[in-house]
Amino acid sequence: MVGVVVVSHSPDLARAAVNLALQMVHGPAPHIEIAAGTSDDRLGTDPTAVAQAIVAADAGDGVVVIMDLGSAVLSAELALEFLPEPGIKTRLVPAAFVEGIFAAVISAAGGAQLDAVARDATEALHAKAAQLEQAQPLVRTDDSITPPAAVVAKATIVNPDGIHARPAALIVEALASLDARVTISTDRSSPISAHSPTGLMSLGTRPGDVVRIEADGADAAAAVDRIVALAADGFGELAVRDRLGSEARARDQLSRPAGVSPGRVVGPTLRMPDPITEPDPMLRIPETERPAALERLAHAAADIAEQLRSRSSAAGTVGQLLEATAAMATDPDLIADASRRIRDRGVTSERAAWEAIGSVADTLRVAGARQAERVSDLYDIRNRMVSSLTGCAIPGVPDPGYPFVLLAVDLAPADTAGLDSTHCLAIVTEEGGATSHTAIIARSLGIPAVVGVRGATAIPDRTLLLVDGSTGEVIKEPTDDQQATATTIREPHQEILISPGATADGHRIALLANIGSTQDIAAALECGAEGVGLYRTELCFLGRTEAPSVSEQIGTYRAVFSRFGGSRVVVRTLDAGSDKPMPFLGYAEEPNPALGVRGFRTATSHPDVLGEQLKAIKEAAEAESAEVWVMAPMIATVDEVRNFAQVAHDAGLPIIGVMIETPAAALQAELILAEVDFISIGTNDLAQYTFAADRHSASLVPLNDPWQPALLRMIEMVTAAAADSGKPVGVCGEAAADPLLALVLAGLGISSLSMGPAALAEVGRSLGQVALEVCRRAARAACDSDSPASAREAVRAILTT
Ligand code: PEP
Ligand code: MG
Repeated sequence: MVGVVVVSHSPDLARAAVNLALQMVHGPAPHIEIAAGTSDDRLGTDPTAVAQAIVAADAGDGVVVIMDLGSAVLSAELALEFLPEPGIKTRLVPAAFVEGIFAAVISAAGGAQLDAVARDATEALHAKAAQLEQAQPLVRTDDSITPPAAVVAKATIVNPDGIHARPAALIVEALASLDARVTISTDRSSPISAHSPTGLMSLGTRPGDVVRIEADGADAAAAVDRIVALAADGFGELAVRDRLGSEARARDQLSRPAGVSPGRVVGPTLRMPDPITEPDPMLRIPETERPAALERLAHAAADIAEQLRSRSSAAGTVGQLLEATAAMATDPDLIADASRRIRDRGVTSERAAWEAIGSVADTLRVAGARQAERVSDLYDIRNRMVSSLTGCAIPGVPDPGYPFVLLAVDLAPADTAGLDSTHCLAIVTEEGGATSHTAIIARSLGIPAVVGVRGATAIPDRTLLLVDGSTGEVIKEPTDDQQATATTIREPHQEILISPGATADGHRIALLANIGSTQDIAAALECGAEGVGLYRTELCFLGRTEAPSVSEQIGTYRAVFSRFGGSRVVVRTLDAGSDKPMPFLGYAEEPNPALGVRGFRTATSHPDVLGEQLKAIKEAAEAESAEVWVMAPMIATVDEVRNFAQVAHDAGLPIIGVMIETPAAALQAELILAEVDFISIGTNDLAQYTFAADRHSASLVPLNDPWQPALLRMIEMVTAAAADSGKPVGVCGEAAADPLLALVLAGLGISSLSMGPAALAEVGRSLGQVALEVCRRAARAACDSDSPASAREAVRAILTT
């Protein structure tokens, strides 16, 4: 992708212009570097800084440089002389500063080549000029003197706001990689370059307008097709409107839901508030309104401190922490800094709070250790301030003071883990799948959950909803008879596993629990787990901005090990990334995080974090009597296995394994087993990567069905490879919790099954009724089936003969 360098006298000006442009980018953004201000913090430009920025921004496709004025241009020209040899392809663009950055960023993000990006940036101002009728637009065409375009089409604008900034950016992106010169016109305006976002916006289109699209060049037809398709789709804005649509529509949309955590309850709904978004850095308030903004800021801070203090009487340490957080909210230095931003720069009160608190948080983060632990409290205050000043609901799980059914588009694992299961009767989400971490955590908390309920968040708060987490049934305003089939309080009821896991003829299959937090321990013990087959350590540290210290980790792990004296506890090292970002690992935005830096891959960038975790596990294991095994997640190569085995061995850990969660690992199971003592198959991820189907997607639930024969064959490949090794091969994905599928897994040669504690009793009962030979036949039949349904049917048929 072409890089963009912004040269300005003022860092504030450059940042604001870049922020504005980035709002328009929907996928990966180009690498943007700012070279602004002098090294001693004055307004000005510095050629050396510009040269460094060009080098940093170049990813091989070249760099466009956009400058503000005067010496910025001189600095940029001089910078070219400082570039290393061979020179980087660089274009200094004579573009209007804001429009140029805007157009260059969108064009580069769309994949345009260097010269096309430079052209789009250069032409960006012509649209404004045309709009103001001060100049002829560069691309204005006149049918009487120019030959007709090669391809012409018409499209009707159907989205409510016409071609505003976002649709304009989509059009520019869609054209960026094509060899086509395209214009768009309406019956009120002359043709405008479709490569210029500002030009497109200046068309002033409204719903119902018919636009004329004309294109020349090798890809003219494709270009026109893309724009016609975008317009027909309402530039993706119809679905959003629909979601906010009427109640009746919401009722219609309750479709294709999937129950992912059992239980049938009825209760009033409560919508999860939207996350707080960064207040607009560009908004300015007039001088006359600033005193009122200052007052609002002071009131908001006082209110928040008051709210926190009213809860601080709660409990000892928690109370003290809330009191400390309340004091931070009204910190005089912080308020003074925010007030200055309002008085001097005229930013809104919410923006002032955002910036001032953000700057304290940055300072604390740099200070490290104890101070850094307060960073998340500061962010909490910041969100509360913004919500108070903008009238938005406070983010996070609400506490309305009565039991509720939580409605959300999707829930982050951190939010789900923080749910109070006595108040949250059920969870209903629009997105998510049965193996998403949110579903897994809901099951571990015993909260009924249904995913894939389109339109759920459009249901008004306090609507009575019946939710069945087994069948996926969701009924709005159920009748009295229907209500009588459900409970209004959650009744935790967990059966107990009677004896160690074994088939009817005594073949042992260890039945272990998956745990994610110290709270899960009690459930695992109550349900009679033989040990822990998967301890998801990352769930203990979700949302943390600083890595947990070794001593904190030792405490956390000992709390688990001490309860499983003499039993196996398989500790998985941090499976960070994807839907479980760990801020302390400082990820860059990834376009496709499930395929990004997650699991063991984070050890490459943060070997210290893995090293400290292994040290803590070792020390905790030494202090307790549990039999501690350790394993790494998301392994893809034999080299990764060797690396992990080496560091775990160096840390003094005796039993070392890895997870088989990628097809690559499954294919090399034999080689992997030669390096470690055991393996554990993570069927959730193995399914996701085998079927290239996001496990969090509601619409892809069928592909992530653990009964998919292709997944079963993948498992068979692993167990066959492991057969001669004599080493344990467990399953710790959600497949292990299915009592019927457990028979298939036993038949495939699995030596342990690890699952949410609630499933242990039923899986144990199922195994205890079937001999190993029958399990083997069931496994064969399931693997040879051609669909999940026929696999289930084939297994049932074998069991009844
Ligand atoms: C799995 O992928 O099956 C697994 C057990 O790991 P997680 O669900 O935590 O990704
Ligand atoms: Mg996994």
